[in-house]
Amino acid sequence: MQFFSTRDQSRRVSASQAIAQGLSDEGGLFVPERFPQVDAKALCALDYPAMAAAVLKEYLTDYDPAFLEKAAAETYGEAFGGKAGFLAPVEGEMWALELWHGPTCAFKDYALQLMPKLLVEAKRNLGRTEKTLILVATSGDTGKAALDGYHDIPGVEIAVFYPTGGTSEIQRLQMATQEGANVAVYAVRGNFDDAQTGVKRVFGDKAIAAELEKRNVRLSSANSINWGRLVPQIVYYFAAYAQLLRAGRIAFGEKVDFCVPTGNFGDILAGYYAKRMGLPVGRLVCASNQNNVLTDFLRTGVYTAKREFYKTSSPSMDILVSSNLERLLYHVTGSDAEVAEWMAQLSRTGRYTVRPETLAAIQQDFGCGWAGEEEVAAEIRTRWERDGYLCDTHTAVAFHVAEREKRAGVPMVVLSTASPFKFPRSVLAALGRQAPENDFEAMQALEQATGRTAPASLAALKTRTERFDAVIEPAQIADVALGYQA
Ligand SMILES: *Cc1c(COP(=O)(O)O)cnc(C)c1O
Repeated sequence: MQFFSTRDQSRRVSASQAIAQGLSDEGGLFVPERFPQVDAKALCALDYPAMAAAVLKEYLTDYDPAFLEKAAAETYGEAFGGKAGFLAPVEGEMWALELWHGPTCAFKDYALQLMPKLLVEAKRNLGRTEKTLILVATSGDTGKAALDGYHDIPGVEIAVFYPTGGTSEIQRLQMATQEGANVAVYAVRGNFDDAQTGVKRVFGDKAIAAELEKRNVRLSSANSINWGRLVPQIVYYFAAYAQLLRAGRIAFGEKVDFCVPTGNFGDILAGYYAKRMGLPVGRLVCASNQNNVLTDFLRTGVYTAKREFYKTSSPSMDILVSSNLERLLYHVTGSDAEVAEWMAQLSRTGRYTVRPETLAAIQQDFGCGWAGEEEVAAEIRTRWERDGYLCDTHTAVAFHVAEREKRAGVPMVVLSTASPFKFPRSVLAALGRQAPENDFEAMQALEQATGRTAPASLAALKTRTERFDAVIEPAQIADVALGYQA
C-alpha cells in the first residue's frame, strides 16, 4: 500500500514515510492509494486488539505484521481497562460508543497511545536515527493525550503549549502533572490561536529547521492530519458493529448509522474508511456545535471559514478550519488539482465552493446538524433524567443531532468522545445544579448528584505534584524549540 498527497498524486510514499513525515512537502495530506477490502464479518468475530491489528495490517504494509500485533495488544489491553470500543445501550435503537476509557479520558487516546509506537517503528523501517521533537499546541485534550502517549518513548522529546486560562482546571492539571523525562509543558500568554500561531511559525521557519538538523533533531507534529492518527480510529466502527451483531440487534449486512461530534473531521472520516473497506455503515452524521462551518458546508457545498468564532462548552470542537475534510474531498473527486485549488482558495480568501456533483456525492454518505449551547445543556439533562445516561458536552452535541437524524428501524450509534467528569462544571450546570468554581469540588458534586464514579486518573490529579509552571510569550516558543539537542 502506498500513500499519496491530496494535492499532488505524484508524491508517493510508504506508510512509514507518511507517518514519519506527517504532511506532504507541498502541504497536502497523505491518503491511501485505494480502500483495502476486508471480510467485515470475519473481522467482527475478533477481539479488539486482534481487530486493530487486522485493520493496521491492511494499511501499514511496510511494517512487520508481528510488530503490529504486539503494538495493538499492548495498546488496547490494560490501558483501556478492558473497555476498548465499549458500546453502551442508551434507549431504543440508540447506543453510545464510549471512547473515553483510556488513560486521559478522551477518544484521542485511541490514536495517541498507538501513534508513538508507530513512529518509532517507522524510523526504524526507514533507518533514521535522528531525535524527533514533537511540538503540540493544544486547547486541552490533544496535549494531555499526546503527553501520555509519548512520555519516555526513546528518541522522542515532546513539548506542549496551551493558552493561559484557555483550558479547564482539570485539563491544565492533567498536563502540568505529566511524568516522564522527555516531556515539557508551557502555558502561553494569550488564547489558543496565539499558541497555535506560535507553534506553526516554528514549523514554517527554515532557519530553525536547519539549526536543529545540524544537531540531528527533526521537528514533528502530533496533530490529527497525520495518517498514523487516523488509522487507529477506523477500528472502533467495526467494534461497534460487532457488538450489535453479538447482541442480536442486527444481522450481518444490515446498515448502522453513526453520529459523530466533529471538529477536525478525523473521527468521522475514520467511519468513512470503515464503510469503504466493506463495513455495512449507513449514514455518517456530522454533528457540530455553534461553530457550525461543517453543517453549512454539507448542506450548501460552500465552505466559509471566515466567520465569527464561538468559545463553547465543547472546546475540542471549536474549530473553523477542519483539516481532514481535505481527505474526503480527494476521495470523492479523485482530483489532486481540484483539491489543491480549493485549499489555495481557502488560505487566500477563507472560502471555497465545491461542484454540485461533489456535494451530491458527499451527501450520499454524510448527514449533518448542529447544537447550540442551550440545546447541549438540555440534551445532557434529558439523557440523564429520561435514559439514565450521563454524557459530556461533546457527546451531547451528537445526541442532539442524532435524535433529529435518526431513521426508523436503523440503529444509531453516537460516538461518546469524553468522560462527563472531564467537564464537571458544564455537566453539573446542565443538570440544573449549582456548579462550584473548583473543578474537583464540581467532580465530587457530580458524583454525588449522579451516583457515578469519576475515572480514577482524574480524581487522582488532586494529589499529584505539579511539575510544570512556566508561562511564556508566544514568541518564546521558538527559543524552546532551539533549546533541544540530540
Ligand atoms: C478532538 C475531539 C473531538 C473532535 O474530533 P475530530 O476528530 O477533531 O473531529 C470531539 N470530542 C472530543 C472530546 C475531542 O477531544
